[in-house]
Amino acid sequence: MNPKSIPDPKSQRLRFKRRLVKWFRQHGRDLPWRQTRDPYQVLVSEIMLQQTQVIRVEGYWHRFLKRFPTLPDLAAARPSRVREAWAGLGYYRRAANLHALARTVVTDHDGELPQDPATLRALPGVGRYTAGAVASFAWEAAEPAVDTNVARVLRRAFHPKLPSGAAGEKLLWATAKALVPRRGPSAWATNQALMELGALICTARVARCGACPVQNACITGLAHPAGISRSNSTTRSRSRGKL
Ligand code: SF4
Repeated sequence: MNPKSIPDPKSQRLRFKRRLVKWFRQHGRDLPWRQTRDPYQVLVSEIMLQQTQVIRVEGYWHRFLKRFPTLPDLAAARPSRVREAWAGLGYYRRAANLHALARTVVTDHDGELPQDPATLRALPGVGRYTAGAVASFAWEAAEPAVDTNVARVLRRAFHPKLPSGAAGEKLLWATAKALVPRRGPSAWATNQALMELGALICTARVARCGACPVQNACITGLAHPAGISRSNSTTRSRSRGKL
């Protein structure tokens, strides 16, 4: 790698972001939850996408929302009906948490999901990633959202020697925060684009650097123009799980 190819961190982030969002606008998948800003619908998609692939979630997401069109509808449902609607998707704890969340929101927040990520995080089953994702994807807030896909992309692009553990995680969140624009629609697009790149190009199994839109703004991409595969990759995760 030519060390001069990577500019200072701020310029690298700018270059990375411009190319990433441009690529996403041309190649991002037309997923149904990208067509809505309804906080409840976004929340359901985020909970379903934890540990589960997009292709499986699509059908469930539509059916679940048909059965429980609003958050108060879900709150009023019997637990057995919620479990039934989730049957086959797995990780039923998510359904129980989502149901408990809906009841808490009806009781404590007049049935409206709170916008503030810190308040969201106090709800059942909502961690730092989900709070950031819902704030960004529903309200277009300038919040970072770092799941396993995003963490992998950021690590390879900006911190390839990053140690695992709390200090490394903190740095990834700081990098994500520095990347997210202040303007709402751009913040939405940047977070979606990061996830899309991690799902389609910079995957746990292989980094297809030769086909990557941010290759010349990525430290790993410049060092390995032909890409890397799992045998020389240090990350494995693929879903919207915890870091
Ligand atoms: S250039 Fe390679 S390592 Fe960097 S983000 Fe793209 S696919 Fe991932």
